[in-house]
Amino acid sequence: MKCEDTIQSMFRHDFKWCKCKSIAIDGGGDYTKISYHDDALYEYVEDSNASDSKN
Ligand SMILES: [Zn+2]
Repeated sequence: MKCEDTIQSMFRHDFKWCKCKSIAIDGGGDYTKISYHDDALYEYVEDSNASDSKN
C-alpha cells in the first residue's frame, strides 16, 4: 500500500478506492478483490466462508 488509508467494501459490488487512488477494493463480505492502479494488477482473495463465489 502506498498510503495508510483503510478502505472496506461493504457489499459485493461496492468498489472503493483508497484516498491516493493507488488501490481499490471490491467484493464486500463475499470475497475481496484488490486492484492496483499503477501496475494494473489484481489480487483476488477469496473469503474462506464464501459460499456462492465458486466457478
Ligand atoms: Zn492509497
